[in-house]
Amino acid sequence: MKTSALERFLRYVTIDTRADEASSSCPSTPGQLELARMLVAELVALGVADADVDANGYVMATIPASPGLEHVPALGFVAHMDTSPEMSGTNVRPIVHERYDGRDIVLPDDPTAVLRPADDPALAARVGDDIVTASGTTLLGADDKAGVAAIMAAAERLITSRDIEHGPVRICFTPDEEIGRGADRFDVARFDCAYAYTLDGGGRGELEYESFSADVLTVEFKGFNTHPGYAKGRMVNAIRVAADFIASLPRRELTPETTDGYQGYVHAYDVIASVDRTEVKVLLRDFVTAQLAMQKMLVEARAREAADAHPGCAVTVSVKEQYRNMREVLDRHPEIIERARLAMRRLGLEPVERPIRGGTDGSRLSFMGLPTPNLFAGEHNFHSRLEWVSAQDMDLAALVVVELARVSSS
Ligand SMILES: [Zn+2]
Repeated sequence: MKTSALERFLRYVTIDTRADEASSSCPSTPGQLELARMLVAELVALGVADADVDANGYVMATIPASPGLEHVPALGFVAHMDTSPEMSGTNVRPIVHERYDGRDIVLPDDPTAVLRPADDPALAARVGDDIVTASGTTLLGADDKAGVAAIMAAAERLITSRDIEHGPVRICFTPDEEIGRGADRFDVARFDCAYAYTLDGGGRGELEYESFSADVLTVEFKGFNTHPGYAKGRMVNAIRVAADFIASLPRRELTPETTDGYQGYVHAYDVIASVDRTEVKVLLRDFVTAQLAMQKMLVEARAREAADAHPGCAVTVSVKEQYRNMREVLDRHPEIIERARLAMRRLGLEPVERPIRGGTDGSRLSFMGLPTPNLFAGEHNFHSRLEWVSAQDMDLAALVVVELARVSSS
């Protein structure tokens, strides 16, 4: 079944909405506001009277309930408008490969960028679909404009098909998810939904309701710098202490390179180094929040051992919470997951349920009072110039939204 998702998607990806971590404004880049205004105009044209964008670039809109179902608790759908800062999003040129024939896809603006079904089972499984790629020098922006397009197509369907019975449906498009700020200024009270779903996932059927719990730990080593020619007995090199510390961290287990599934890790990922002062940032990740305290104890002990081995070196350790496993909230609301399974099965899709080895806006929204698991939108090869999406998957994602609106009122 076709929706307007593809046509909308091709329009949205041409607007550069790359997020910028260096910016302190919200949204971090003006293109996101441009897309926000376009979406509000399209919603108003569809007849969604209250669509608006707030001062921080969040788009919110309501599709009123069918007559007699106004009392049903409102259900929300959320997608993010920004794209990853890791890859250019300027002058995205989407290419539709109609009825994909299963051969390698060479992207014309850089022939070294090749999508090979032999290396990409998800792509091989979509032979016959209409596949959309970028042209080789930019990302596509399917993450998460596929989610935006699917929600917009579903909104159109809900408004124009009077035979679909549903409760109130709320929509929110957020800025700056890719730089971890998507939930920062999300006005949960104004959104006023009992629960919501993000559409920001991969292949058809994907249903995600477990994420990591995440902290970031900062270790600061203070050494002493002096002219290296006259440093005997005086210099304390903080870089050497930090190197000892990093070398002492686990390496055959508890690392990103050696873990998958439900295994957690500690990950030293950033160093600002000088003889006088060296700072090491370490990610702590586990599905069980209590394990983060064990990880902190381990990392802190190694940092102190390294400092103790270098007299004159001082060390401080600090931890900042990032997000928590949404399952801790969603376990109290099993009906939210059950409805997603039911909606998919009614469309002939078998739910594919996997833990997210990362976080989503939903990880934080769930703890802000809005339980929010994640659904597929058809996105693949996130943040890469090899990003692609199947038009048929976007249509299915839109139909899942419509079906969920129906299921939630029954
Ligand atoms: Zn995303």
